[in-house]
Amino acid sequence: MDRSIRLGVSSCLVGHNVRYDGGHKRNAYVADTLAAFFEFVPVCPEVECGLGVPRQAMRLTGDPAAPRLMTIHADLDLTDRMRAYCARRVSELAGENLCGYIFKSKSPSSGMARVKVYPEKGPPSMTGVGLFARAFMDRFPLLPVEEEGRLNDARLRENFIERVFTLARYRDLLAGLGLDEQGRESADAGEGRPGRRARTGQLTAFHAAHKYLLMSHSPKIAGEMGRLTARAASLADEELIPEYQRLLVSAMALQATPAKHVNVLQHILGYFKTQLTPDEKAEALDLFERYRAGQTPLVVPMTLVSHFVRKYDTAALKNQWYLQPHPKELMLRNHV
Ligand code: SF4
Repeated sequence: MDRSIRLGVSSCLVGHNVRYDGGHKRNAYVADTLAAFFEFVPVCPEVECGLGVPRQAMRLTGDPAAPRLMTIHADLDLTDRMRAYCARRVSELAGENLCGYIFKSKSPSSGMARVKVYPEKGPPSMTGVGLFARAFMDRFPLLPVEEEGRLNDARLRENFIERVFTLARYRDLLAGLGLDEQGRESADAGEGRPGRRARTGQLTAFHAAHKYLLMSHSPKIAGEMGRLTARAASLADEELIPEYQRLLVSAMALQATPAKHVNVLQHILGYFKTQLTPDEKAEALDLFERYRAGQTPLVVPMTLVSHFVRKYDTAALKNQWYLQPHPKELMLRNHV
């Protein structure tokens, strides 16, 4: 990848003093670790819709399915103002080539789930979604989104970042094909746009290189994608590309589990059946089972199979993104 990957982020998470009280909610993992790998597009809906800093604290009230955004003390209704801003801002963000978004949890504007909604009487329900987060997720339903608190969970963190990198590679593929996400010729596709046959070949190669990564999330959807790709030459781009993307995003949104990883690792081990000694094979299978039992992190069996791939120069595996779906410096597989 020769370009940076762009992520939307709640401004307060990267240290901007935009909270109602003039403070921030800087998250070290987001602002330090992830900032080294992604280009952030910070957004503070409350400041950007003109509410200023400091401002009155606010909360969601009424019907959790269509809540109002109200200031807590003066009971000012800011819903229409925020909605008008959201409509404008999500349209602008469509041009930012975002591959994901990290929201600030619990916020009546930016929280993506479990935000408190206060009824007229009684305790709040934890079922709301912040108005900006709602507008963003409605406009970009296929984009990976997370909130900062959930990134403390190693599995959710790895899954989110894997989805972001996979989507970025897919966007690079589309750019190379000269197509947009609907399968239409993109506005900036130049004269050198590949022909139909080359486009099919590039999509097939992309799919082949993601085969085991997809299997680690959903063997079923990976199979559907394989069948779709096999028919690629007979389908119009407008039919093929949106369906391929829908399946890609659906598969990657499903959590990879130890059982699914062990299934993939066993498939990969099958490539070496004539090369490994019985001892080496037994050691690998033992590691897989220790990983399945939670006695060792995923990085351990992955390191062993990656060693086999390098040692035996296995062409069918060398380009598998499953072996390294995100930069190893992020150490995401050391904790799952
Ligand atoms: S949670 Fe959202 S609206 Fe609130 S300060 Fe952070 S970025 Fe701004």
